[in-house]
Amino acid sequence: MTASQSPAMEALFLGTGSSVGVPMIGCRCSVCLSPDRRNHRTRSSLLVSANGKNILVDTSPDLRLQSLRHGLDRVDAVVYTHAHADHVLGLDELRTFNFIMGREIPIYAPTPVLDRIRAMFAYAFSDVNREGVTRPDLVPHPLDGPMEIFGLPFRPFLVEHGPTRNTALRIGDLVYLTDCNAVLPEGKTVMKGAKILIVGVVRYEPHLSHFGLDQAIAEIREVSPRMAYITHISHRMDHATLEAELPPGIRPAYDGLRILL
Ligand SMILES: [Zn+2]
Ligand SMILES: [Zn+2]
Ligand SMILES: [Zn+2]
Repeated sequence: MTASQSPAMEALFLGTGSSVGVPMIGCRCSVCLSPDRRNHRTRSSLLVSANGKNILVDTSPDLRLQSLRHGLDRVDAVVYTHAHADHVLGLDELRTFNFIMGREIPIYAPTPVLDRIRAMFAYAFSDVNREGVTRPDLVPHPLDGPMEIFGLPFRPFLVEHGPTRNTALRIGDLVYLTDCNAVLPEGKTVMKGAKILIVGVVRYEPHLSHFGLDQAIAEIREVSPRMAYITHISHRMDHATLEAELPPGIRPAYDGLRILL
């Protein structure tokens, strides 16, 4: 199946915050104290639904709260971008979905990311003492190239993320590009023709591991999608201010925003 034939899908921003979330613990800045709900950002994660299946991109430390907020009661698969704490620490919450659905959950990630996750959550993947240990029941699958997950075409590509690499995902006509400070040549090719582009920006100025706003806008202009959304936003950006500043076709995402493709 080519990207242009991919099934109708919905994407729900479960979380749109940077690694510490907004409000940040102990901070009294105007964004952290803002009554605007769109400034309340849990750690970044996206839920993609198609063909009656829910595919979760990353398990943020706020997965439990996000699931309760949005009435999420099934997760058919998880795709991981990278093993940074703000993207994986909710892994244990998958236990509840195992319990509700009465079965294991497949998880997909590039092999090095799976290796990191196995090391971080050794209890969840060890076959020793399986009896009596409460843990999620997960089946790891390498995502080292294009593959379909429940009929949806996923194409991973590596991007620069400071001293390390992150995985961006093209999912049908949507690209999820968070935690990135530079796109490599392969990524430029993969992103061509995407209709929806989601880009991570933590603050206005460039950051060692993340795009600054102008860098993200330049990247978006190259792809020229129908619509682009900013996510992974820190307390240094106020939603309404950012929304007013952004050019047409680019919007800040917020927790609970849904997009249809
Ligand atoms: Zn992150
Ligand atoms: Zn703050
Ligand atoms: Zn990261």
